[in-house]
Amino acid sequence: MNVVTRLAPDQVGLRRDSRQLLSSLVVMLAVATGAPSNIRANSSGAAPDSPTGGVYLPGSEPLGPKEMRVIALGTGMPSITRAQAAASFLVQLGNGENFIFDIGTSALTNLASLGISWKTVDKVFLGHLHFDHMGDLAALLIVGVSHGRNKPLRIWGPTGETDVLGTRYAIDHLMKAYTWEFLSKRGRVPSAGYTPIVEEFDYTKVQTIYDENGVRIKSWPAIHVIDGPVSFSLEWEGLKFVYSSDTYPNRWFVDNARNADIVIHEAFPTVKQLVEFNGMLPESAWPVGTRVHTQPAAAGKVFSMVQPRMAIAYHFINEVRTRQAIFSEIRSTYDGPVSLAEDLMVWNVTAEAITTRKAAPIETIWPGKGRLEGAKVNPAERSFASDWLEGGRLDMSSVDRAMWMQLDEPTRSRITERLPEVGRQLETPSP
Ligand SMILES: [Zn+2]
Ligand SMILES: [Zn+2]
Repeated sequence: MNVVTRLAPDQVGLRRDSRQLLSSLVVMLAVATGAPSNIRANSSGAAPDSPTGGVYLPGSEPLGPKEMRVIALGTGMPSITRAQAAASFLVQLGNGENFIFDIGTSALTNLASLGISWKTVDKVFLGHLHFDHMGDLAALLIVGVSHGRNKPLRIWGPTGETDVLGTRYAIDHLMKAYTWEFLSKRGRVPSAGYTPIVEEFDYTKVQTIYDENGVRIKSWPAIHVIDGPVSFSLEWEGLKFVYSSDTYPNRWFVDNARNADIVIHEAFPTVKQLVEFNGMLPESAWPVGTRVHTQPAAAGKVFSMVQPRMAIAYHFINEVRTRQAIFSEIRSTYDGPVSLAEDLMVWNVTAEAITTRKAAPIETIWPGKGRLEGAKVNPAERSFASDWLEGGRLDMSSVDRAMWMQLDEPTRSRITERLPEVGRQLETPSP
């Protein structure tokens, strides 16, 4: 194995101390041999020799005070599969904060399977406004309230060349699309959580767009189809996470991703894969695979220029027929540590080490709504169905009565006290 000879200082980056170098070496060996690259991060990570060494059991590991956990909520293509949701990455910090970068379709299925309360997920950063990067935004906005978020969802996203191409326009119209949804809930459900705060920022600038509680998030321009897309970095406690969203390799990315611990960059299916598996016409596959997006070997070149402690390639179909070619392409231009992203891959990051594992998803989970703190609803705001429509109800009073009798007395009393109309709903002779 020639892994060691690949570790020439100019390839690895001289900034690492020897301890980090050793970590990288072990990760590389693990990646090269296919073994789980499960290096113990700190006391909160599962030890390699534990029964769960290669698996992250959701909810079982509190983060250390200077530890970051990155979880892939979506790694695939716009055409989602059970195995791969569309683009989305969750960053969890040891201070208890959660950040979502892109929120593609089905990402929330993965989020739910981690048992993370959606009410703690209130900050979303959109790299651009393609469907596969924001398809589940409405779900987080609306269903997040069912999970107990009684404060606005904060959404950061870029401007466009004109107003209608910006994030604010997109969110305004997403809200309009759900007019019926919001009207049907008004006066019945606390509404603070339904009103997002949109922080639109200039896509042309390299700038800090978020600076709170010791967390700094920067954005810079990305090159992807038309004007507007951006990439991001998040820095906290000396750790740096970088996420490309969609982009062709560019100088802003290389400049701003330097010294990062985690660098996630898109690596699109090869042109051959697009033609063979996706049925794309070659004349479409070529520009899409090599100009609109980043081909895997080009992602490898970016990783080589940036030299992260862990490179993560995403935005390809990660299955048995495709992943070897993706890996070979990346390896043709990059020798360092790399993860081929799968949904629910988990990276624990500290100054000392980076571990790579898969989360064991929880198949079924209730939202855990809890009490909406300080929540107020105004029944006077309610809308109702028309009388003619109400008149179409069949008589279900006998099953109502049976359901009523399943409840204990304190529960019945509470309902009777708080829902004055309950008497009307039980207007049936006692059995
Ligand atoms: Zn895109
Ligand atoms: Zn995309």
